[in-house]
Amino acid sequence: MPHISDCFNKKSRYIKSAGLTETAAVKLRENTASQMAERLSALLQIQNDFFPCFDWAFPPPLLSKSSAPDSIEDLFSVSSVTPGRYSIYLHSPFCKSLCSFCYYAVIPGDSDRMAEDYIDHLVKEMAMYSPVMEGMTCESVYFGGGTPTFLQNDLLVKVFSSLQRYFLLAADAEITIEASPGTLPEEKLWLLRELGVNRLSYGIQSLDERLLKGMNRDYSLAEARVELSSAVNLLGNVNVDTMYGFAGEHQDDLLNTLSELYELGVPSVSIYALDQQRSQTLQNFAPPKDELYQHKIEQFARAEAFLGTKGFRPVLQNVFADPERASYRHQVRRWDNLPLLGLGINAQGYAPQRPYQNISGIKSYCQQLAEGRLPVATVDKLDRELEVCREITSKLRFTYMSTEQIKFKYGLDVRKVFRDLIDSLEGMGFLTCQDDILCMTPAAAYYNNILPMLFSPDAFKERLSGLPEEYIATFPVPRILTGIGKTQSAAFEFGEAGGERRVSPERRKFLHAHNVVRRNNPERRETAGRRSVDRMGAWSVAAAG
Ligand code: SF4
Repeated sequence: MPHISDCFNKKSRYIKSAGLTETAAVKLRENTASQMAERLSALLQIQNDFFPCFDWAFPPPLLSKSSAPDSIEDLFSVSSVTPGRYSIYLHSPFCKSLCSFCYYAVIPGDSDRMAEDYIDHLVKEMAMYSPVMEGMTCESVYFGGGTPTFLQNDLLVKVFSSLQRYFLLAADAEITIEASPGTLPEEKLWLLRELGVNRLSYGIQSLDERLLKGMNRDYSLAEARVELSSAVNLLGNVNVDTMYGFAGEHQDDLLNTLSELYELGVPSVSIYALDQQRSQTLQNFAPPKDELYQHKIEQFARAEAFLGTKGFRPVLQNVFADPERASYRHQVRRWDNLPLLGLGINAQGYAPQRPYQNISGIKSYCQQLAEGRLPVATVDKLDRELEVCREITSKLRFTYMSTEQIKFKYGLDVRKVFRDLIDSLEGMGFLTCQDDILCMTPAAAYYNNILPMLFSPDAFKERLSGLPEEYIATFPVPRILTGIGKTQSAAFEFGEAGGERRVSPERRKFLHAHNVVRRNNPERRETAGRRSVDRMGAWSVAAAG
C-alpha cells in the first residue's frame, strides 16, 4: 500500500499520515505561456510562507517512500552524474541543553556514556561504507548536530581519525564542524585544527542578552565572544548562524548582532527566520499563516543591505560571506547531485537517484549497526526526470542554473522542456536569463519555496494532485503546484551526456565582464549583478580554494 509521509517540506509534518490516503492522480490542465502567468499570479496570493526558509528539498519528502535497501551496494547501484566524488555528513545529536526554538532530534544534558556508545556505532557505519567508496574522493565533510563540539576530546579524535582511516579525503577537503557557545574552549579549537577541521559553523543566533534569555541558552555572552574571537584567530573560516523573527524583537536587534559579529572579524553569517510554527504543537497549529511574514521580510532586507556595505557577498539567499576569508563548499555542492553519505541518526544522504534518511532513534540505530545492518530508514526512488529536476530546482532555489551545464551533464535541453515557464517567469519579473544562465530575481525570493518547484515534471505534479483534497487545500506549495496545470512545453528527452563540467576560468571571466542579470531598478541591478557573478564564478573559486 502506498505510504504518504507527513512532510511537505516542513509544515505538513503536523498532519498525521494515518489520515491520508493516496487517490488516483488527475490530469493537469494544459497551459499556454500567458495562461500560466495568469494562473500563477492568482495562485501566488495564497503563498505566505516565512522568508527565507532553509528547510527545503526537491522532490519534497512526500510520496511513496521505499523501505531500506538490503545493502550499500544496492543503495549505490545507479551510476553517479558526478563520478569519483562525494561528500560526507556526520550527525551527533548531543547538546548541552535544549534551546526553546529547537525542533531537531536532540539529546540534551549529560550523556557521556551514551555518546561513547554512539560514536563507536558511528565508526562502525563508516567502516560499512568504506569499501563501496574505495577509489573515490571525498571533497567535503560536515559534522553537524546537535552540538558535535559538546563531545569529549577523545571522541572527536575517534571520529576524525576514523574518517581518515576509512575514506580518501581530498587534500583541500572542506571540513566543517558545528559548535554552540559554551562548548569551545581554546584547547578544543587547537585539537580540532590538528584533526584537520578547517571550517567552523557557530550557532549563537543572537548577541542580545534579552533575546537569548527566552531561548533557554545557558552561557554568558562574554564566554561566547571569547570563543568566537579564538575561532576567528585559529581557524579563520568561521560562519555564525543568526536568527530573527522572535516575539518582542526590536527593529535593530538583528542588525546589532550582525554588526558586532563583523567587529569580531567573523567572515561569514547565515541568517535564519525563526519558524514559530515548528515549535507549536498540533493542537494550536493553524496553518499556514505566518503573522510575522512582513516583519521578517523587512528584517532580512535590512540585514542584506547592511552586509553588502561591509563587503559580504551572498553565497546563498540567506548566507553571506567575505569571499577572501570564507568558504561554503559543502552545502553548495549538494545541488550538483553529488553523492552524500549521511552517517548517524536521522542523517539525510544522497545516493544517485536515491535520497535516503537514517533511522532517528539512537537505540535502533545502534542495534542495526551492531547486527551489521544498514541503519537506513527510508529511500526515495527517483527516475532520471526527477533526478535532473532535483538539480535544476535546487540550483534555482539556492544559487543559479546553467542550461549548458545541464545539457552537458544530462543531455537535456531545459529551455525546450520548460520554454513557456521560462518565458512566463521572465515576463513576471521572477527570472532572468542571460546566455545560458537562469537566475531567480529578488522579487522571486518572496515565493522561493514554490517557484523553483514549477520546474518539475508534469507527471510528478499529477501524482501530487492525487493527494487528499484537504491536504492540498491546507498547504500552499502542493496547492500551487497542482493548481497551475502543466508547466512542461515538451517531453524530457535525454540525449548524449558529456559528463560533469564545471565553469571554466575563461567562462568566469566572461561572466564577470558581462552583468548577467538585467534589472530595471539601478540599485537592484548593482546587487543582482554582483550576486549572479558571485554565484557563477567567485563563489566556486572561493569554495574550491
Ligand atoms: S544547540 Fe542547536 S541543536 Fe542543540 S538544542 Fe540548541 S538549537 Fe538545537
